[in-house]
Amino acid sequence: MPVYDFACTCGTRFELMVPSWSSPAPDCPACGEPTRRRPPSPAVHGRAAPPPSMSSAPQSWEGLNSGDRDTITHWRRTVEARQEFESRNPEHHEHRDAIAAHEGRFERKPLTYKELAARASTGKDAGQAAAEASRDRSTGGTSEA
Ligand SMILES: [Zn+2]
Repeated sequence: MPVYDFACTCGTRFELMVPSWSSPAPDCPACGEPTRRRPPSPAVHGRAAPPPSMSSAPQSWEGLNSGDRDTITHWRRTVEARQEFESRNPEHHEHRDAIAAHEGRFERKPLTYKELAARASTGKDAGQAAAEASRDRSTGGTSEA
């Protein structure tokens, strides 16, 4: 199935796999209004394909193989590449934080790839960073710092 770009009047843009060009455009994930499909951009043609959209990254702890280091490292790099791509190509910017996990102990305070990257950048690898984020939530309890 082809992937198309969609845009909403609220400024949200996203990519989605749809059965065909004639498929109806989906509603905006941010505001629920109908979107319109954007024509393929000639500026992008011929260059390397952009990194996968953030919404393609796993958004659950289970999807990250319960914090498997290699899995997390792979997706953290993918998300970082996407963020860099979006900073250079603002028209592709997605108005959302990429969530890495939201269930279980992450239900109250979802784990974002941004947090993973921040934790990992202080010298730990991604697996340790994820384990620490998980531990913070199980022991920190009610703290909302
Ligand atoms: Zn919208």
